[in-house]
Amino acid sequence: MRVTVVLFTADLRLRDNPVLGAALRAAERVVPLFVIDSGIARAGFVTPARAAFLADCLADLDEGLRARGGRLVVRAGDVVGETCRVAAETGATEVHLASGASGYAQRREERLRSALAADGRALRVHDAVTTAVAPGVLVPSGKDHYAVFTPYHRRWSAERLRPVSPAPRRVELPRVRSLPLPGPGDLARGPAPAGLPKGGESEGRRRLAAWLRSGLSGYAVAHDDLAADATSRLSPYLRFGCLSPVEVISRARRAAQAGAGAEAFVRQLAWRDFHHQVLAAVPEAAHRDYRPRHDRWRTDPDELAAWRAGMTGYPVVDAAMRQLAHEGWMHNRARMLVASFLTKTLYHDWREGAGHFEGLLVDADVADNRLNWQWVAGTGNDTRPHRVLNPLVQARRFDPRGEYVRHWVPELAALPGAAVHTPWRLDGPERAALRYPAPIVGLTEGLARFRRARELD
Ligand SMILES: Cc1cc2nc3c(=O)[nH]c(=O)nc-3n(C[C@H](O)[C@H](O)[C@H](O)COP(=O)(O)OP(=O)(O)OC[C@H]3O[C@@H](n4cnc5c(N)ncnc54)[C@H](O)[C@@H]3O)c2cc1C
Repeated sequence: MRVTVVLFTADLRLRDNPVLGAALRAAERVVPLFVIDSGIARAGFVTPARAAFLADCLADLDEGLRARGGRLVVRAGDVVGETCRVAAETGATEVHLASGASGYAQRREERLRSALAADGRALRVHDAVTTAVAPGVLVPSGKDHYAVFTPYHRRWSAERLRPVSPAPRRVELPRVRSLPLPGPGDLARGPAPAGLPKGGESEGRRRLAAWLRSGLSGYAVAHDDLAADATSRLSPYLRFGCLSPVEVISRARRAAQAGAGAEAFVRQLAWRDFHHQVLAAVPEAAHRDYRPRHDRWRTDPDELAAWRAGMTGYPVVDAAMRQLAHEGWMHNRARMLVASFLTKTLYHDWREGAGHFEGLLVDADVADNRLNWQWVAGTGNDTRPHRVLNPLVQARRFDPRGEYVRHWVPELAALPGAAVHTPWRLDGPERAALRYPAPIVGLTEGLARFRRARELD
């Protein structure tokens, strides 16, 4: 009886999972394995938000496997050592794995390949599982990745995606022992954000169906409106692979009545693939400037603390930072403007911001987080690297009635309309009664400092 192992990583789903499909085609018995990887925990990447979400994902995956005659096998420790042990214990000939873009994923793949080969076993790696188009498939002539989004997007849009596959009917396991399913507390210490969504493939599919039915068609018009909250909020489900990007794109494209909404939404998924192909080619970009600008970033612990706490005195920035702390998620427009505020107005190192986001975001992903931070900081792939988002202009444009700010900054809830964006303009007694800080830096001063530092004047 042939046995294979599926090592689940960022592909925690049964539907449209080519890794699981290939393992099932190759053998009569399959071990669906998840390793609680001590390497990822050591790197500090397991936080309360992601631990809670992951625990939901694993419970849901286990339930889905049980409904098909199987179950999830859980081990803990070094991912390579544990996978080899399971393969040896069950006599598996092959291990199947999804490819990943980060340096960590690439090293894991190499280590696994050589450790398995030493035992006479094969590693089979599958592309287009965690992204729709695999890194390296689309390349400009003479280069190993696209550095600019527009030409990448053109090629990406013309690319034929593989067909979407259904969940398997049955999954049969060999005899193999498993740890119990972990709860959030087994994975990380500390409370998860209060507003965290439930994780897992079932919940992801429910949200995807609702989004295609009633959110997608309005996306092109409303996606930047902070208070409308009119984006899909599917990012954590894509991050953990509860949803297949190929399936999400295919279904959005089929929702023909969604027109411009579908096109705009699918374009955002191209951004996701774009960042993954950059990181796969340049894994150091997780830590080093992709395009060095010779920045000598300022360090000011009080300013950094104020930014983190949502106490900068700029209401829209503070609202966004508080949304992050409460939900483990932030609107994309808000991510852009708080990142611009930190790296350009305050002129702090983008790595400080990326690290803070990773501590809280449920969807934190090395490619999407680090390369978006670099994009905003002007050290990455933005073709206009020195643009600065003015938080006041942004606030008036994307929160014109001040509803987003009033929701997240209760100290300002009594201020009417757009006046909420400029509390410092209030008169003496009214201003004094507000328990809200004055701006930590003037926008003109911040801009002049940034332009000097980048030698733009
Ligand atoms: C500084 C900064 C940090 C970010 N960090 C992350 C991160 O760690 N993880 C993450 O998934 N996204 C990140 N993003 C991208 C984006 O903000 C989120 O994907 C988006 O806000 C998620 O909300 P949504 O699912 O409602 O998105 P929607 O607007 O509904 O978009 C659909 C999907 O497209 C993808 N997507 C959208 N925008 C981007 C983008 N700019 N780059 C890459 N993928 C995108 C996401 O998977 C998203 O779920 C970051 C953006 C910035 C500016």
